[in-house]
Amino acid sequence: MADATSHQSTETRFSRRSLIALADLSSDEIRSLLSSARDMVDAAAWPGAARTDLAGHSVGTLFFEDSTRTRSSFTLAAQRMGAHVVDCSGAGTSVSKGETIVDTALTIESMGVSALVVRCTPEDGVRAVADAVQCAVISAGAGAGEHPTQGLLDCLTIAREFDRDDAFDFSGLRLLIVGDLAHSRVAGSAVVGFTKLGGEVICCCPEEMTPGPPMASSLTIERDLDRVIQDVDIVMMLRIQMERGADPGSMNAYTKAYQLDARRAALMRDDAIVMHPGPMNREVEIASEVADGPRSRIWTQVRLGVPVRMAALLHCIQSTT
Ligand code: ASP
Repeated sequence: MADATSHQSTETRFSRRSLIALADLSSDEIRSLLSSARDMVDAAAWPGAARTDLAGHSVGTLFFEDSTRTRSSFTLAAQRMGAHVVDCSGAGTSVSKGETIVDTALTIESMGVSALVVRCTPEDGVRAVADAVQCAVISAGAGAGEHPTQGLLDCLTIAREFDRDDAFDFSGLRLLIVGDLAHSRVAGSAVVGFTKLGGEVICCCPEEMTPGPPMASSLTIERDLDRVIQDVDIVMMLRIQMERGADPGSMNAYTKAYQLDARRAALMRDDAIVMHPGPMNREVEIASEVADGPRSRIWTQVRLGVPVRMAALLHCIQSTT
């Protein structure tokens, strides 16, 4: 299936074996991945193997934490590029018998895969895998650190929405991230990606969910959601990461101060959009009428995860051959 390639090409091509964190990448490398993903949007929507670039390759997915969107999206991305997928998930693997993540990765690599997609709880776990194996390694989220392909799909969603998907220059755009930034790897990658592309990030959260360094140094912290929400282009809502020790205190007080409900959404600029990485806790951080309303781009984010992961797999695997 032919891809549209009429857009401006980027100068520095992303050609790394591993994609661990957007913090490792230059802004040109991020633009290069986003350009490829943009050019794969049509192929990603094709049911079946739309391309054959990765025919003959196998991709191992190693998820040591739960996942719905990310795992299925990597699987579909690999299949749409013509690759085979072998799925190993935490509960059914030998990690539950005491095997280390690195040994599990070496085991699957020894059977002959071209890439491993890894999600794990230690923030440095995916990097440890990449150091140990020879094949391509892509992070599918590591602890409270980064979730680079989520950051890329968020940037692609924003670029397409605001007509920045030629040069991927976000100057003049303001992104507001609301909620549990302290424990969110989605925020970790969104902040890095969005600021490297020239945008401005503001966060609004309670004291105990305020991010520490290095994230804190590249954003403005606000506490009054009603005020700040009026002056931004994108509002990204986050789930409270209870499994990482987040404690919202009184849930009533939290939702009163930070839930995006219809009244708050009405304060937003006419063309401002709402994003959420999923899974959503409806009526906690976001009201259903907003999640299902006209500003929501939540399902667009999910859809664009596939071309982003197709691009990531292609570039990382190509750099090993
Ligand atoms: N799915 C995202 C993640 O893996 C967001 C979340 O779980 O809240 O981090």
